[in-house]
Amino acid sequence: MLFRDIAGQTDLCNRLTESVDAGRIAHASLLCGPTASGSLAVALAYVQYIYCENRQHHDPATDPHGLRADACGVCPHCRKIEQLQHSDVHLVFPSVTSTETTKGLKSAADLQEEFRQFVMQNKALGTIDDWYAFLGVTTQQGQVREQDANDIVRMLTLKSYEGNYKTVIIWMAEKMNAVTANKLLKTLEEPTDKTLLILVAENTSTILPTILSRTQQIDVADSSQRAEWPEVFHSMFVNWMRLLFKLNMANLSSMVDELAGMGREMQKRFLTYTSEMMRQCLLHTLAGMPNGLRTGDAKFDAAFPAMITPRNAEQIYKALSDATYAIERNAAAKITFMQLSFTLSKLIKNR
Ligand SMILES: [Zn+2]
Repeated sequence: MLFRDIAGQTDLCNRLTESVDAGRIAHASLLCGPTASGSLAVALAYVQYIYCENRQHHDPATDPHGLRADACGVCPHCRKIEQLQHSDVHLVFPSVTSTETTKGLKSAADLQEEFRQFVMQNKALGTIDDWYAFLGVTTQQGQVREQDANDIVRMLTLKSYEGNYKTVIIWMAEKMNAVTANKLLKTLEEPTDKTLLILVAENTSTILPTILSRTQQIDVADSSQRAEWPEVFHSMFVNWMRLLFKLNMANLSSMVDELAGMGREMQKRFLTYTSEMMRQCLLHTLAGMPNGLRTGDAKFDAAFPAMITPRNAEQIYKALSDATYAIERNAAAKITFMQLSFTLSKLIKNR
């Protein structure tokens, strides 16, 4: 899978190649977002880029896909990963035990060839329901099982065939049962050298917090919704950022009231929007990408991107993702947004 074959995730793809080029490859990461929006596709392209022997760099301003880099697609690693047949890259996914349809096959290891065909056919965009349909099962009880966890631990401790990274991608990681998750925790606590564990999930609310806290979370935006942001987000974002810079408590408090009054879904979208704006700023600061801010406030759009730098960006994303996580869990919105405001204010001032 190449980044250029993935629609609607340009900024994320650029952020990932940027981090690989800078040598910042997280031992364990969690790509969170709908499979149909490319979360598994991005994971595969990311791994391919890491393994590629001949990474290609472009000028994003002139690249037809707006990408700053991509894998070559032709080196032996690229070819094997595109065929999902690389000896150091393993895929784990929910399996079903329905005997008549899967002939008694029990774990992901038994269904490798089926899953390979499934992913190749739909370019890694097929949903869990598509996977059940592909297997011909109607009882939707797929799980990532204990046997899979044993396989993951074994794969990650085996010596790599080619001295490269050993990678395990777990698709629909929220389907891990408790035993699997606990076995996996040990691997996360004691990472071995040159291993990559990439969880891909649509919904993190059923994943153990201890697993979440040990993975670098990367949000994959829902590409079906992201094209049009509510108009009001632009002015809210500008006002909020200006308040954070001055930290005017009275005005900040009424801003937080406004955010808290929006309702959970809108709050989550607003945080996704904010995260997206930060990415645009970082790309502008770092890679000289065209300034993607379009808030309608020209003065703000010109000045704000410089506030986001490689030194504060990662913590900003983390603060935004922690706030989203808190809101998903019904945390008090006022407290969440107030804490987030303090964190962001500090990070932006200490750029
Ligand atoms: Zn390559």
